[in-house]
Amino acid sequence: MYYADNTIIFHDGKFVKAKDATTDLYSQTLHYGYGAFEGIRSYRTINGVKIFKAHEHFARLQRSCELVGIPFNYSTEELTQLSYQVLEKNNLRDAYIRPLVYCAPNMTLSAPTGVSVMIAAWEWGKYHGHQSLKVCVSSFQRPNPKSVKMEAKVCGHYVNSIMATNEAKQRGFDEALMLDMNGFVAEGPGANFFFEKDGVLYTPPLGNILPGITRQTVFEICREMDLPVVEKFFRPEELFEADSAFFCGTAAEVVAIESIEGQLFSKPWKQSMGAVVQEAYKCIVLDKSYSYVIV
Ligand code: PMP
Repeated sequence: MYYADNTIIFHDGKFVKAKDATTDLYSQTLHYGYGAFEGIRSYRTINGVKIFKAHEHFARLQRSCELVGIPFNYSTEELTQLSYQVLEKNNLRDAYIRPLVYCAPNMTLSAPTGVSVMIAAWEWGKYHGHQSLKVCVSSFQRPNPKSVKMEAKVCGHYVNSIMATNEAKQRGFDEALMLDMNGFVAEGPGANFFFEKDGVLYTPPLGNILPGITRQTVFEICREMDLPVVEKFFRPEELFEADSAFFCGTAAEVVAIESIEGQLFSKPWKQSMGAVVQEAYKCIVLDKSYSYVIV
């Protein structure tokens, strides 16, 4: 369950009980997927409760709205403050924060006539990155960037992610890896992808993927720790020669991939570059120094 009887959310300028909050069934977002959202985490750090990269997430929310033409006037500072208030009112520390921008009743395909904002949060235990995933190559491609704004986190895009996830689970895998419209590896349904080969990390360039904030954090970690990382297009076949691989995203954090289409990676995760990045990421979100992480 995402909320209990006394859970408070922010909804259109007010803090209200989640169970009392309502919306209109004629919302343009509900019918056409025309809305934008974010997925954010807060952590109980050594310096108190911290929302990780709040500014970056809310800036992406603003940009997502701008890219698809949803008028949205909140500043990133306001949204950050409101999110901290939601956490406080619900006594949450390690939590997932979900802001959603959705549109007023409008059954036409024309510009929105009004916009609503809600911010909800629920408890989300600290660091899940212990499992390792069995991944399949999805039959679903990521959407063509000429038909949608791939860098926007828009509600409707997630039909693609849900279909890929369902297919993966039906085939007995934990997670899907999707290709772009040219057959190059793109990303997971809700996470970006990296692989390791001969001491270098590789990941697809921007264009056909969501510009993940965790992906950006991985670049920062690599820069800080002198780990070589290269953006390039690559085909799934190349992964069968790779040493290791991982997904990264706000929800998944940095998570090991055990196999792709049943083929195991040669390097044990604990010896991989991904494991180093995973350890450093864990420190960063908790506001701890990661200088002790041995490369
Ligand atoms: N790709 C997709 C399709 C996603 O939904 C997400 C999650 N927002 C990511 C990548 C990772 O993005 P982030 O690191 O900003 O959570």
